[in-house]
Amino acid sequence: MKLFFRIIMVGAVIFYCCSCGNVRSGGWGRASAGGDGDFEVQESARQYVDTAMGTVIQQTVYASEETASAFFQEAMALLTGLEQEELSWRLDTSEVWQINASAGNEEGCSISEEMEALLQECLELYGRSGGAFDITLGPLTRLWNIDKWAAGGEEVKNDFRPPSAEELRYALGLCGSDRVRLVPAVSEGEEARIFLPEGMQLDLGAVGKGLALSRLSGLLEEEAGVSGAVISLGGSILTFGGKPDGSSWKVGIVNPFDTSSNVGILSLEGQWCVSTSGDYERYVEADGVRYHHILNPDTGYPAESEVRGVSILTKDGLLSDGLSTACFLLGSERGMELAEEYGVEVLFVLSDGSIVMSEGMEAYFTEL
Ligand code: ADP
Ligand code: MG
Repeated sequence: MKLFFRIIMVGAVIFYCCSCGNVRSGGWGRASAGGDGDFEVQESARQYVDTAMGTVIQQTVYASEETASAFFQEAMALLTGLEQEELSWRLDTSEVWQINASAGNEEGCSISEEMEALLQECLELYGRSGGAFDITLGPLTRLWNIDKWAAGGEEVKNDFRPPSAEELRYALGLCGSDRVRLVPAVSEGEEARIFLPEGMQLDLGAVGKGLALSRLSGLLEEEAGVSGAVISLGGSILTFGGKPDGSSWKVGIVNPFDTSSNVGILSLEGQWCVSTSGDYERYVEADGVRYHHILNPDTGYPAESEVRGVSILTKDGLLSDGLSTACFLLGSERGMELAEEYGVEVLFVLSDGSIVMSEGMEAYFTEL
């Protein structure tokens, strides 16, 4: 038996797919929009909605009430910890903040094993994407004030003015992953070190939610009492285990031309990660021109391509998030090649409305 819940959120939009009973990738909770969403789940499911990492977190788990509520707490602690202790460039409590503060220092900055693995993966993606995906764009993303208006702040949006060509040129001169030096730990107990040139600042916004999915997946594996779960962090979704009735998880792929609808549905069984990057949710306007939040490291301006949205399907959260941003930047042809190299499935929604996907994706995708 199925139940319908209509959740009225004050200050947040919940993007649930009413007809399929699950979540959507590509829509994200806007802190200021206000609204409501339909929510269909099985009777034994337990839900929890909160915010972290600048987005709305929706968790649905199949477990006893006690296990579920313990899991929700742990998951939220994990997400806030990830932001405050590791990834945030705004909080001086985080490792990224420490790294950024060390830019220009000859002795560099020691980093944890987890940070070393994360940065290595990002630097590799920089190389394999031909420099399109670049975690050193901090000076540029700050200049555009992306995190302020991407979080939905209407006042910031109203006051927005694009940076001048001169400002962009200066910021661009401070960026470039090819100038990052990462020295791995050579012996046990020693820490790796990172050296950033003066003025360079890391921005891990393109992989943060993906890394969170990987960590949450680990948490679910440790939690014997959860038989199934679907967790949505904005545009990034994690599925885990199964539903009591054996039906598959349904993840809607948002229609970039009408974000209240889906272009199709992914039917997934077991553990998967789906991340979507697009130009249609996080953007700002000035003088009739729209500026979105994924920047071309060659020009400093929002990337222009024939892609409106791109979704990556893989078991690995970090890859799903990193590659969705990279494939958006590269466009469908080169993006398709990169996805194939990494062994992930990809689906592009192009600006003419057409859908292009990898062969393997066809087994999961149903067009609506
Ligand atoms: P979202 O955060 O909406 O899920 P993405 O995963 O595509 O979207 O990440 C976009 C974020 O990545 C931007 O807000 C910015 O912080 C950062 N970013 C922007 N341009 C680039 C780029 N060329 N390479 C790597 N990161 C980028
Ligand atoms: Mg991403």
